[in-house]
Amino acid sequence: SSNGLCSVFHCYITCCRYQQKEFQEVARKFAREEIIPAAPSYDKSGEYPVALIKRAWELGLINSHIPESCGMFLLISVYLGLFLGGMGLGIFDACLITEELAYGCTGVQTAIEANSLGQMPVIIAGNDMQKKKYLGRMTEEPLMCAYCVTEPGAGSDVAGIKTRAEKKGDEYVVNGQKMWITNGGKANWYFLLARTDPDPKCPASKAFTGFIVDADTPGVQMGRKEMNMGQRCSDTRGITFEDVRIPKENVLIGEGAGFKIAMGAFDKTRPPVAAGATGLAQRALDEATKYSLERKTFGRLISDHQAVAFLLAEMAIKVELARLAYQRAAWEVDEGRRNTYYASIAKAFAGDIANQVASDAVQVFGGNGYNSEYPVEKLMRDAKIYQIYEGTAQIQRLIISREHLVKFKN
Ligand SMILES: Cc1cc2nc3c(=O)[nH]c(=O)nc-3n(C[C@H](O)[C@H](O)[C@H](O)COP(=O)(O)OP(=O)(O)OC[C@H]3O[C@@H](n4cnc5c(N)ncnc54)[C@H](O)[C@@H]3O)c2cc1C
Repeated sequence: SSNGLCSVFHCYITCCRYQQKEFQEVARKFAREEIIPAAPSYDKSGEYPVALIKRAWELGLINSHIPESCGMFLLISVYLGLFLGGMGLGIFDACLITEELAYGCTGVQTAIEANSLGQMPVIIAGNDMQKKKYLGRMTEEPLMCAYCVTEPGAGSDVAGIKTRAEKKGDEYVVNGQKMWITNGGKANWYFLLARTDPDPKCPASKAFTGFIVDADTPGVQMGRKEMNMGQRCSDTRGITFEDVRIPKENVLIGEGAGFKIAMGAFDKTRPPVAAGATGLAQRALDEATKYSLERKTFGRLISDHQAVAFLLAEMAIKVELARLAYQRAAWEVDEGRRNTYYASIAKAFAGDIANQVASDAVQVFGGNGYNSEYPVEKLMRDAKIYQIYEGTAQIQRLIISREHLVKFKN
């Protein structure tokens, strides 16, 4: 009907006018009004936050970088009349949203971010048919996906993965085991990295292939949900592939291109991971500051003790710099420039300071900080993973040092 068309058009216009600050505001409101009240109980139960993810999807806070050509626009009369679908937003925009979601709960944010990580190889390397089929469906309903690279025997050393894919006719047959896969048990499809050239002398840049695998393919077996230190509502599992048949149409780019695709995704996903760590650190600073303005010792507020005030100042310095670091990394890649150096700096710095700031927040809370009735204990547990996943703190330094030194050698 013409009415329907009008609303789609109106929706499109709204989208064009929709500014970064508005996305940030919607994410902030959602985090504060809906995520924060629910987070402690998800943390205790470890239950996957389906209701929050569904709501974030309705608000257009998930899948922001799916190209517009893959999406289906829908009008939702919530908040500012947001639409859903492929919004084709940049990494900078995604980071602003991610920081706000992480402020609410990084368990929820990681589940959402893992979608971006799973989608990114398809966004950067998928053909039109693959994009329409696998990204398009995510704009039609709140589906999850996952990035399946790490194995029990190889995490940092990606080239050491053993999962094999052998070509048989028009299919590849996959056997192997993946580990620590976020959204492992909730994904509708996986990005999978497997070895296609068995020759140990074959360089990593040619030995691996990237596939899209439907999660319901026979032979895909999900392991149990792992009980982790923090971010407990995020779903992390091992996935076993036993004689899993993948049609050749699901190969990304071509045989041998997988390593580059899997690593290339990080340039676009590490800035949002850094933004998540920054959101956690901002929350820790805010909680510590509020507490310091309520708690009294020796007849004065603890914020009036210079040692506490200066600790808050140090925390604030770190949060502000981590934010600038992720914004620089995101801006570089949005401008079409190679941002590997900046992405690793942002990820390493924000991951480290999230841990320092969360630990300092516990310190400001004193004994209460050590107790799960107060919010900062969860933040300290949740922070640790930022120094581990998407490349450990050490691997980031390896990348930064390489990127740095090469400039002097040339
Ligand atoms: C909760 C959670 C979620 C995850 N989600 C995903 C996911 O969705 N998809 C996925 O594919 N993977 C995922 N991972 C895996 C994660 O990326 C790896 O755990 C991480 O890359 C480290 O690999 P590893 O555990 O094998 O440690 P290892 O590589 O064995 O490293 C052990 C230690 O040695 C250090 N080290 C290793 N090599 C070097 C070196 N060359 N120089 C200096 N130090 C070094 C590391 O920094 C680390 O401190 C997840 C992990 C966790 C815990």
